[in-house]
Amino acid sequence: MQLYCPRCSLVFSGNYCPNCGGKRFREPEDEDLCFLVEKGQIWCDMLADVLKQHGIPCIAKGRLGAGLAMQVGSFLETQRVYVSYADLKEAAEIVEELFGSEQEENDFNV
Ligand SMILES: [Zn+2]
Repeated sequence: MQLYCPRCSLVFSGNYCPNCGGKRFREPEDEDLCFLVEKGQIWCDMLADVLKQHGIPCIAKGRLGAGLAMQVGSFLETQRVYVSYADLKEAAEIVEELFGSEQEENDFNV
């Protein structure tokens, strides 16, 4: 069974959130924003394009501050890409296709 940590926007399976260790989670709902992958901005732009082609809306957030989102990201800044839970499975497959085994940072069980 998959669970969702609202604090981290992370879907996982297990007894606690692998990111924050929190135990305040619930079952994911289709419209929940879920962490997909963290990449440099160029890769995120490319990924966002491909997701768009598949009809999957996504949101990219830089690490500088969640509220500031994309505007402040430099090209060196890594960004976190989020999709809704309904799209997570398909989006994860696209990430796998695009980045394959290079995708080390994201070892979450999606
Ligand atoms: Zn968490």
